Amino acid sequence: MLSKASEKVFLIGAGPGDPELLTIKAVKALQKCDVLLVDDLVHPAILRYAKPGARIIHVGKRGGCKSTPQKFIERMMVRFAQTGAIVGRVKGGDPFVFGRGGEEMLALRAAGIDAEIISGITAGCAVPAMLQIPVTHRDHSRGVTFITGHTRTGKPINYHALVQSDTTIVIYMGMTNLSEISAGLIAANMSSNTPAAAIRNGTLADQTAVISTIGKLPEDARLAGVSSPAIIVIGGVVGLANAVHSGFLGPEAESPLQAAAA
Ligand code: SAH
Repeated sequence: MLSKASEKVFLIGAGPGDPELLTIKAVKALQKCDVLLVDDLVHPAILRYAKPGARIIHVGKRGGCKSTPQKFIERMMVRFAQTGAIVGRVKGGDPFVFGRGGEEMLALRAAGIDAEIISGITAGCAVPAMLQIPVTHRDHSRGVTFITGHTRTGKPINYHALVQSDTTIVIYMGMTNLSEISAGLIAANMSSNTPAAAIRNGTLADQTAVISTIGKLPEDARLAGVSSPAIIVIGGVVGLANAVHSGFLGPEAESPLQAAAA
């Protein structure tokens, strides 16, 4: 076994989908790894940067397979690193934004293994940008709040705090609960006409999107077939979207786009 000093795990962010949104640092890390543990939202084309002969293990939950339990992934990372292998844990977007990268970093730290974090472009910024929606714009929003629509504890979302924050709201993993989220925001005094969009498979060739209002988004997304994995973005900045890039417009005539163009 090699000395402890050589034990190394890279937590690599692979970006939101389009392989060209990978960073140069991510490519260099991929080229060094002997073992890659790859999540399912990672585009397969990025594996072309893997070292020839590298062992590639898919640990994702989509595609009909059951997801690999988190603790098992953490144990695998530690075990492979302890054999002296350079390990890469490859995740969609940024490893520290809803990617469990924090948990994995702590597991590695507890095992005395050095983790190097390679930031990636998170879906919450890059996916709205595909529709030309800036998540902040000083005329429309004083900030952006990233939340998950789905929590491990099931703790309810504090809709009042969200509405009062007066920021753009970007929701990851929110499609299953979209109706409740829409109702919760409106009950917390958000106008039902607030512009809102949902974008599935953003940055990829099969991207689909719907631009609507928070009141109508659940129905419009259903009609447009915009389901998980999708980013939901809510706030005045959605009024800046460029329809040419959306692939689909909500069926309502008075969409925020037309209002913005008027
Ligand atoms: N670490 C990732 C997020 C992981 S959580 C990041 O920083 O982007 C997975 C969720 O991210 C999905 O359920 C979806 O809500 C969102 N997501 C990731 N890639 C996406 C894409 N290309 N298009 C739309 N949503 C995406």
